Amino acid sequence: MQSKLRNKLIIQKYGGSSVANIEKIEGVAERIISYAKQGNRIVVVASAMGDTTDALVCLAKKINPHPSEREMDMLISTGEQISCSLLAMAIHKRGVGAISFTGPQVGIVTDTYHTQAKILKIETDRIKKELANKMVVIVAGFQGVSTALEITTLGRGGSDLSAVALAVSLKADLCEICTDVDGIYTADPRIVKSAKKLKYITFDEMLELASRGAQVMHTRAVEVAKKFNIPLSVRSTFSKKEGTIIMKKMPFIEEAVVRGVTLAGNEAKITVCDLPDKPGIAAGIFNELAKVGVNVDMIVQNVSHKKITDISFTVLKEDISQTLKIARAIAKRVGAGQVIFDENIAKVSVVGVGMKSHSGVAAKTFSVLAKNKINIDMISTSEISISCVVKREAGKRALRALHKEFKLDRIKS
Ligand code: ASP
Ligand code: MG
Repeated sequence: MQSKLRNKLIIQKYGGSSVANIEKIEGVAERIISYAKQGNRIVVVASAMGDTTDALVCLAKKINPHPSEREMDMLISTGEQISCSLLAMAIHKRGVGAISFTGPQVGIVTDTYHTQAKILKIETDRIKKELANKMVVIVAGFQGVSTALEITTLGRGGSDLSAVALAVSLKADLCEICTDVDGIYTADPRIVKSAKKLKYITFDEMLELASRGAQVMHTRAVEVAKKFNIPLSVRSTFSKKEGTIIMKKMPFIEEAVVRGVTLAGNEAKITVCDLPDKPGIAAGIFNELAKVGVNVDMIVQNVSHKKITDISFTVLKEDISQTLKIARAIAKRVGAGQVIFDENIAKVSVVGVGMKSHSGVAAKTFSVLAKNKINIDMISTSEISISCVVKREAGKRALRALHKEFKLDRIKS
């Protein structure tokens, strides 16, 4: 632990794997107490134990593949109540005061969108009162109470968001995201052996990495942290090693242009062939998809020959059947050809804020892939990232080649 942390208000979020069994819960209790003993006030946010939430979802789906969302929230919000109460007991056992709460009990108020609710405000009185009583306050992550007084959840992985929102509302000095990895890496270390842990990363880079396949942090949580400029420390629950600080700006004058690469395999490519090339066709397709909440990622429209064109785009695999249904109906209506799909794709991305001011990253990315005989299927770029869709079987090879070419194994910070 950083020894300089004294008399601070600290939010600590523990993920499901950190509280997966009693032994781990006892370990987390010790960790929390070590911070409390230094005179810090601690608000803990815990996720459900291990795979509890998945198991609960499974139970529901055995009854009905599309259960009522209100009842889903009643069900899946229970996981966090278990881990939080057990954690409070483990802290009591060690002679330290602690009290656990559900989201509704501490006034985490959300809108009424069950299973995907947004936090509107947090009434902090109860938490502040308990902190003043020298209690460790433990709050169930991932849940709140809607303006209609119903229990809501914030979307899978939403405990990160609970923690960040509490940090904002309580004006915390520090928000730690304690997890089973020891920080943010230049690439997934399970795929790229030479991946390096980053000391710092900007909110924008983290957002790009998270939305392009890095699974360490919940995207909306990073968005909220960025909005309120709350630095986050992502670190391991199980070691004392410093993690990665996610913050607004890098604390250096110059930095590496590329700071991370990711691989995502959760998308599929849909192609609508032989579309009439005239105004309104793309709008028609993508409006319909937006209406049913399908998120479209990359889009490519081919050059039109004789007023006929193809449009390809990617969607999450779980949205394929819905997307095909909509795309086929539109294709029929406008006299287009076949609608085909390919699940055998992967997306590699290169991310770094330095790209804003450096040119040549795209060229280098494409050359690396070419040199490795990897064909690029689709390309998309943002101000700080470049993504390429390649064949699934080339994904890992592409990731390793890009990591090497951009010298991420030698990055300093
Ligand atoms: N337990 C919830 C989930 O698994 C929330 C979280 O882990 O952050 O999605
Ligand atoms: Mg979880």
